[in-house]
Amino acid sequence: MKTKVLFVTSEAHPFAKSGGLGDVAYSLPKALVKNTDVRVIMPKYSSIHDKYSIDMEFIEKFSTNVAWREKYVGLFKTTLDKVPFYFIDNQDYFGRENTYGYFDDGERFAYFSRAVIDAIEHMEDFIPDVIHCNDWQSALVPLFLKVFYGEKYKDTKVIFTIHNLKFQGLYGKEVLFDILGLNEYYYTDERLKYKDAVSYMKAGIIYSDFVTTVSETYAEEIKSPFFGEGLEGLFQKYDYKVQGIVNGIDYDMFNPRRDKEIHTKYGVKNREKKVENKLALQRELNLVEDKDIPIIGIITRFTPQKGLDLIAHVLEEILLLDVQLVILGTGDQNYEDLFKYYAHLYPSKLSAKIMFDPDLAKRIYAGSDMFLMPSLFEPCGLSQLISMRYGTLPIVRETGGLKDTVIPYNEFSNVGTGFGFENYNAHEMLESIKYSLEIYRKPDSWNNLVKNAMERKSSWANAAKEYKKIYTRLLKRG
Ligand code: ADP
Repeated sequence: MKTKVLFVTSEAHPFAKSGGLGDVAYSLPKALVKNTDVRVIMPKYSSIHDKYSIDMEFIEKFSTNVAWREKYVGLFKTTLDKVPFYFIDNQDYFGRENTYGYFDDGERFAYFSRAVIDAIEHMEDFIPDVIHCNDWQSALVPLFLKVFYGEKYKDTKVIFTIHNLKFQGLYGKEVLFDILGLNEYYYTDERLKYKDAVSYMKAGIIYSDFVTTVSETYAEEIKSPFFGEGLEGLFQKYDYKVQGIVNGIDYDMFNPRRDKEIHTKYGVKNREKKVENKLALQRELNLVEDKDIPIIGIITRFTPQKGLDLIAHVLEEILLLDVQLVILGTGDQNYEDLFKYYAHLYPSKLSAKIMFDPDLAKRIYAGSDMFLMPSLFEPCGLSQLISMRYGTLPIVRETGGLKDTVIPYNEFSNVGTGFGFENYNAHEMLESIKYSLEIYRKPDSWNNLVKNAMERKSSWANAAKEYKKIYTRLLKRG
């Protein structure tokens, strides 16, 4: 019999998405459904597009608890790419313009977590072997199961995946009684207390049977204060049940052989055609049109996490090299201003598009030669995976998922899928850029690197296999 997995998430593409979790919650179940009975459950936000909500089937209505208060739950269902998706409906909580960012988010997702557990008995032929929770919004599920449901789901294992450690679901002590329905016993450093607050994330880490994060290196890094966001001690303590699994990318969405957004389609076998995309990009962005000038692409949120300080520090030195720089992003004003300023000074060498544009992003992935991603920290990172699939060699700082996915070029053994540097240092990054330009001038080596990068296996199939192994291991343990 297939393992039954309930995948609990606060967002999933194409229904609602604010970040990486939205992609994972769509792609991972799609990859798992071939050999597990996986079902996804998420809130029924009013922001979900009509074209999806119109097909949702109403299953049942019942009530759940927020502490002592009874709250309405409507359960809906639809199927997408063979994966059943359930939706928790409550207009008071989810009938709002955005997914998160409200004063009562702590209550909204405590409600969601209780409602998810109460929804199980309304799902046809389905008692989950595994409940797979994600980030702080569903981190309370394993705790609630233990506290409020006694023996009912005693054989069900819970795995908790951390996609973003920055957001931990921290709320004042009063939520303990008023929202979670718990007592003082849970307000200690060994349980939910974090400084003077209640941490939902801690509930996920402590009460789950297993914890994963989105790359092996990051799973190690978070045991140290620099990366641990205050939870490093907890990760050290629970080391035995923490593992990293690198995300994949959607091979249908990111495929240069079939991509309708790019100028000329190409694959590994006819990768010489990639250059047409470069010429088209230079034309589109009013850069000098010349196939021999290497283009470095940057597509990112403008935040310090992405290493933009390093780029800012040596931007002028980069622009003095024989390169063109194409930047696409939005975010902190100071970076936006800086890039606009330099684009004005060097119009033929630097194009800075301050916007969010997924189609232009694809044209940049296809048209660039290198992709610069010097992150300060990087739990997994998707951009380097996308760029490799498009034969654009990433230049990365070797941290987190970047370290696990990009093999730095070694000219003696000829292995590699990109370039890497170790320290968070602008001149070390600059040296790495210069080195990549040197290799760019050796067509045989470069061509070989492009081939390696394009052939890297980044599909979700690999990650799905790893998650499946964890499910099986947990269930065997009994
Ligand atoms: P993070 O999730 O930390 O922002 P990732 O590398 O994991 O970083 O994923 C970023 C994703 O968002 C990539 O698919 C990237 O192409 C896309 N992206 C980032 N900024 C933009 C933008 N301005 N326009 C279009 N796509 C963008």
